[in-house]
Amino acid sequence: MLNSSKNISQWVVINGIRVDVPTLMSIRHCCRPAVCKETPNCCSCFQIHVNEKELETIVGFLPLAEKYTSAIGNEKGYDNVFEEAEDGCFIIDADENERCVFAYTSEDEETLCSLHSAAISLGLPPMDVKPKCCSLWPLALTGAPDPVLSINALSATFPCNRKKAVLERIDKGIQEMIRIYFGDSFLSELLSKTGG
Ligand code: SF4
Ligand code: SF4
Repeated sequence: MLNSSKNISQWVVINGIRVDVPTLMSIRHCCRPAVCKETPNCCSCFQIHVNEKELETIVGFLPLAEKYTSAIGNEKGYDNVFEEAEDGCFIIDADENERCVFAYTSEDEETLCSLHSAAISLGLPPMDVKPKCCSLWPLALTGAPDPVLSINALSATFPCNRKKAVLERIDKGIQEMIRIYFGDSFLSELLSKTGG
C-alpha cells in the first residue's frame, strides 16, 4: 500500500497545467527497449491519436521513416496510415500484430520508433516529430481548457515502470521525461514546490 504520510501537496499549478503530484511520485520509469522485447510494449498497446498539425509533421517525415519501417510504403508512394476519428483527430494505423505502423524491429530485436529514429538522424529532438502522447509516455497530459499532467493509468503494467512503495520524491526517470517535454524551468519549479 502506498505510504502518503508525508505532507505532499496534492496538486501544484505550473504554467496553467495542474500537476497531479502524488501520481507522478507513484512510479519509477526507465525506458530500455531490451526489457519489452518479449512483452507488449507502448507501441503496440494504444491507439495513437494525432491532431492535424502533428499529422502534417509526420507526413513530412514519411520518406525518412520509411528507411526504418516498410509498413508505411507501397509501390506508388505511401499508404494513408491515418484514420479520421470522431474527435476530429486522426488515429495512426496498426499492423497485423497490432503494432503501430511506425514501429520497427531493430537488429537487437528491440521495438523502436521510425519517427524517433528519423528525428535523431537529423539531429532533431524526437518530440519535434513524434506524436505528443508518445513523447510524453508514461506521462499523460489532458488537453485545454484544464490541462492536467499525470501518469498514464496503464503505465505500471509495463516492465519499464515500477510502482513505488513510498510517495516521497519524483523519480529521476520521471523528472527527465518532464524536463525533456516541459523544459528545465518547469521541472525546477515542480521540484521546488514538492520538496525536490
Ligand atoms: S517506454 Fe517501456 S514499453 Fe515503451 S519501448 Fe521503452 S521500455 Fe518498452
Ligand atoms: S508513433 Fe512511434 S512511439 Fe508512437 S506508437 Fe508509433 S512507433 Fe511507437
